[in-house]
Amino acid sequence: MPATLLDGKALAASIRAEARNALAAISVRPGLAVVLVGDDPASRVYVRNKVRACEETGIYSELHALPADTGEHDVRERVQALNRDPRIHGILVQLPLPAAFDAARVLAAVSPRKDVDGLHAENLGALVAGRAKLIPCTPAGILRLLDHAAIPIAGRHAVVIGRSTIVGKPAALLLLQRDATVTICHSKTQDLGAQARRADILVVAAGRPKLVGADMVKPGACVIDVGTHRLPDGSLVGDVDFAAAREVAGWITPVPGGVGPMTVAMLILNTIAAAGAPR
Ligand code: NAD
Repeated sequence: MPATLLDGKALAASIRAEARNALAAISVRPGLAVVLVGDDPASRVYVRNKVRACEETGIYSELHALPADTGEHDVRERVQALNRDPRIHGILVQLPLPAAFDAARVLAAVSPRKDVDGLHAENLGALVAGRAKLIPCTPAGILRLLDHAAIPIAGRHAVVIGRSTIVGKPAALLLLQRDATVTICHSKTQDLGAQARRADILVVAAGRPKLVGADMVKPGACVIDVGTHRLPDGSLVGDVDFAAAREVAGWITPVPGGVGPMTVAMLILNTIAAAGAPR
């Protein structure tokens, strides 16, 4: 029997509808500023989706699109001005930044209270300590998907493929906090297939189209595909060979319509939380 689909699009829509209703009933209007440097086409699409989703939810939003030749110092000054702006409760610096930038230094300029991506060292430290208020959106969305489908986490073996600061590492920490036994795999891991096949929950965030085939999935496992790749024919695929893996897995996220919409929904919740408004 093919795996049950974890429908991130539907869950994200219901989270957004709840947030919209909650905001309509209060006087606080949360505000989000998105800072985009350069003209990476994928980043432009992501940013547009985020701003549009905020507007639809009743969140004030501003897009600060800066030309590719903007200096790092100027970007940090823009971020600092947004830190002081009382209309803005959340600041998101869209990654990747131009190669010449020190991304950590730019992220460090964001006030930790407005850091809706949860990437400031203070918020990452709080995540390690298990008391984070602003958690990176994609891993937070993954946990919401698992919980919504009542997938057991405690005592299960979770394997996370990818160790980025924005997805892999925080996803592993959140699963650990929920008492999973966690293995983190990366580009130097030997025999990735053997590691992946041990997973009750397999989170794939490697950025490699169709890296995970059916032979890497334990029968009945829950497969979370974070990867997003646009093929030359315009279609979107993930890091998992969806058609093959769904024949083996117990649950699986589609691409598109799985983790992506959940990331946007969590950004909305983080912005509302940063504004101190009830969710
Ligand atoms: P990244 O490039 O920063 O990190 C990729 C990680 O995968 C690295 O830690 C690397 O060691 C590991 N890796 C690479 N090749 C591997 C291999 N062959 N075997 C094992 N590990 C390997 O990427 P990221 O920012 O974490 O994003 C990962 C993917 O998720 C990308 O496709 C990105 O577009 C997508 N993404 C989607 C969302 C969403 O909302 N759907 C959000 C963030 C990222």
